[in-house]
Amino acid sequence: MDFDAAFIGSGAGGYYSALRLLKRKKKVLIIEKEKFGGECLNYGCIPSKALIELSEGIEYLKDMPGVSMNYSIDMKEWQKWKQSVVTRITGGAEKLCLSLGAKIVYGKGSIKDRNTVTVNGTDYSAENIIIDTGSVPVKINGIDDVYYNREILAMENIPEKLVIIGGGYIGIEMGTAFRKLGSDVYIVEMKDRILPEIEEDLAREVDKKLRKLGVKIMTGSRVQSVKKNGKYTVAIEGSESMEADTVLMSVGRVPNTADTGIEKLGIQMDGKFIHTDGHKRTSVPNIYAIGDVSGGPMLAHKAFYDGYVAAENILGNDTVVDYRALPFVVYTDPEIAFTGKSGAKYNKVPVLANPRSLTMNQKEGFFKIYYDDDGSITGAGVAAPRSSESITEISLAVESGLSIDDLFLTIHPHPTVSEGLKDAAERND
Ligand code: FAD
Repeated sequence: MDFDAAFIGSGAGGYYSALRLLKRKKKVLIIEKEKFGGECLNYGCIPSKALIELSEGIEYLKDMPGVSMNYSIDMKEWQKWKQSVVTRITGGAEKLCLSLGAKIVYGKGSIKDRNTVTVNGTDYSAENIIIDTGSVPVKINGIDDVYYNREILAMENIPEKLVIIGGGYIGIEMGTAFRKLGSDVYIVEMKDRILPEIEEDLAREVDKKLRKLGVKIMTGSRVQSVKKNGKYTVAIEGSESMEADTVLMSVGRVPNTADTGIEKLGIQMDGKFIHTDGHKRTSVPNIYAIGDVSGGPMLAHKAFYDGYVAAENILGNDTVVDYRALPFVVYTDPEIAFTGKSGAKYNKVPVLANPRSLTMNQKEGFFKIYYDDDGSITGAGVAAPRSSESITEISLAVESGLSIDDLFLTIHPHPTVSEGLKDAAERND
């Protein structure tokens, strides 16, 4: 065999998994049809968080009592900087793989048979094949020429009026950021609330703040058509149509299995996702599928984790996924995060009682810890500054079987946002 493992796709799951194998002296082939690092590094997590940081920095000072400021943003310059950050991360990951001996081939890869992958007309044999082909945005028939995540994150100007179709996490993150940067933002969501995939009390905090910022949220609304004639005209069922200079379509993502050759092997599917067992093996045992293409929440850290599990099994260890404390974060205002599951009981402490948040002029949100009758922590929902950082404490607690008393008795530095979690762990009885 030419390789121990051949990866189709170098996304979050792929390069992470490849690195684990390379560090353990395995021969690895990585096939990538576009850019090394996939959606997260090039067009998703990293560029979106860079934009959110810019918008939050500005809003933070604008909002601070006693501060007045004049500022301007040169989006072309900012885009150059953002690209340099992306290139530093993707280039670093690619160089590291190469330095550890990976062969990287650019081109569209497909599976020929259970031990052969083909790219650019060349066949390579591999003991194991890992499918990491990610996901693509859902497109609606008849609605063309709109912006998706790649286009909106590459914009060299700030739109005057931005209509966002879809109130899921990508749309809401982008809507918050562009509103803070000065756009007039409209969000059109078919369901009866924004962030329908998130716990209602967390989503409500974001809804409240968005309205305070002046974002127009239209729930229970269905877009009928989008026409472009210079400007966009967006027709909404039962409402007047709207004009906009930019329309972002963010109505979800679907797994990408196009042209991978999986149908030739009759690999079992779960709807549009590739079916995998707990080892991340497909129905053909030496072929693995990881990340967005393999079901579960479409998140980069879930893809990393899948990649780790697949690599461990290729290395001969019997490793099974355990998603019980998989955190989910939405980088909004307030930042919201969830991990684990609800329990028999919960304690909830408002952000208003957290001194560090008050020094940041942040008053909205809460820390909520779920636990069972015996006190063991089952999960948490947090709507507070930087909850993306503090939520890991609760994932660790769930993973380690800790109780609210363990959390409460852990001395937290003062003043910190994470003290809110400690306070929510205090027994009231
Ligand atoms: P991907 O990263 O999608 O990579 C798949 C790779 O496979 C791509 O490079 C593609 O070119 C390649 N490929 C596909 N087919 C072939 C083929 N036939 N041959 C060769 N190569 C192929 N997640 C978070 O956890 N946190 C966030 O903050 C976050 N923010 C996001 C913001 C946006 C705007 C978007 C769109 C997504 C965001 N995500 C976030 C989700 C995250 O990007 C994905 O969950 C993650 O990228 C999935 O990784 P993956 O390895 O499954 O696939």
